[in-house]
Amino acid sequence: MNTIQIKDKKFVPYIDRKKIQEAIQKVAARINEDLAGQNPLFICVLNGAFVFAADLFREITIDSEITFMRMKSYSGTQSTGRVKEIQGLGEDITERTVVVVEDIVDTGYTIQHIKEQLRARNPKDIRVASLLFKPEALKCDIKVDYVALEIPNAFIVGYGLDYDEQGRNLKDIYVISE
Ligand code: 5GP
Repeated sequence: MNTIQIKDKKFVPYIDRKKIQEAIQKVAARINEDLAGQNPLFICVLNGAFVFAADLFREITIDSEITFMRMKSYSGTQSTGRVKEIQGLGEDITERTVVVVEDIVDTGYTIQHIKEQLRARNPKDIRVASLLFKPEALKCDIKVDYVALEIPNAFIVGYGLDYDEQGRNLKDIYVISE
């Protein structure tokens, strides 16, 4: 087992890059079919979703655009429950279909907060695409329209996701082992 160490924590390989790419292709195919002709605006939620958004967006074959917003809710390995907007959205989304691109939906507070903020700007439709989803950790009544991979309630890093800002550059996804 290729255990890696990030600061005080150990992690073991969990989902390899091939499986990640296959899951992304499936999600992209569904989006291409569902949103054809709508010129959706993808909104990548920084920091964690940047790797997923880059791979997902390159699998999108319909007319579409991408932009970025920045949120923060995690501290160490725990969701704080408080969501802080660090950089908001500049674009006008009135009557547009938007696809919020998240790295992971855990308690769901972040995505709930983002959806509330976006709804106030009168979009036509808000869809959510998340690389990972932890159904057991969900604490809000929210729908994740496009999930690439469902995982149990464990802390993971890699492929854009961090532990204390480290590990985002790992090509595979790792799970905490202690
Ligand atoms: P939520 O608001 O749904 O609880 O959490 C959303 C955010 O928490 C994600 O965008 C991500 O930044 C962070 N997060 C949730 N679970 C994990 C995890 O297992 N690993 C890492 N690195 N971040 C997580």
